[in-house]
Amino acid sequence: MTHSAPVIAIHNLHKSYGDLPVLNGVDITAPKGHVIALIGSSGSGKSTLLRCCNLLEDSQDGEILFDGKPVLWAGAGLDRRPASPAQVRQIRTNLSMVFQQFNLWSHLTVLQNVMEAPIIVQKRDRAEVEEKARAYLAKVGIADKADAWPSQLSGGQQQRAAIARALCMEPQALLFDEPTSALDPELEQEVIKVIKDLAAEGRTMIIVTHDMRMAADISDHVIFLHQGRIEEEGPPEAVFGAPQSQRLQQFLSAGQ
Ligand code: ADP
Ligand code: MG
Repeated sequence: MTHSAPVIAIHNLHKSYGDLPVLNGVDITAPKGHVIALIGSSGSGKSTLLRCCNLLEDSQDGEILFDGKPVLWAGAGLDRRPASPAQVRQIRTNLSMVFQQFNLWSHLTVLQNVMEAPIIVQKRDRAEVEEKARAYLAKVGIADKADAWPSQLSGGQQQRAAIARALCMEPQALLFDEPTSALDPELEQEVIKVIKDLAAEGRTMIIVTHDMRMAADISDHVIFLHQGRIEEEGPPEAVFGAPQSQRLQQFLSAGQ
């Protein structure tokens, strides 16, 4: 068996907004094919952590490795080597993000939304991209919406279009930031099903979610973030079945 490096590895990440420390030394490793669920109360730093992963946010200290290669080195202040523009592009296209609010472009049709980045950013062939885009729209169950505008879709359909858009980049990993939080319960299920199918296919994913049932169902590893630190982590059976820290116990019982 060949050994493959984790898709993304983060060591000792520190991030503040001005004087406000938000991440205080976080480590995450996402091995290929694993699903990591990131849980924690509002303001614990989950979104910031995802955004740091794909370099949408700068960080002050810590190391980020993509596919075993450092893109951001440890070292505070002037010692810190920033990622090059080529590395930023590589990491953004390889760690595709799906947001709570879908973030589809309203002036583009669903198909155009899915095709945009592969053509403009990745400079791939239009015919190849269109074929893949239609296949991914079919995969998430909205092939018939290719020529619709985002505003003509339900929230669940918009989120599925956003997932097709992320998949069309052919990324190494998918990052989801509360993908079902903006949806009504009945629409939530159709998005959860798509995410479950992706997990079953062996996609590498990091999912921020408030949905403990989905986290327990699909993740290999659960990380509980509290005030910018990992308070507890482990396999879902342990984190949900036998939480050790009082904060995690409180967090889980508050959600019932
Ligand atoms: P979560 O996703 O777990 O709810 P966030 O990562 O969004 O947490 O936020 C963590 C903390 O950082 C919060 O205190 C939040 O107010 C603060 N924060 C988030 N984004 C910004 C920003 N762009 N500028 C300043 N503070 C921010
Ligand atoms: Mg958030």
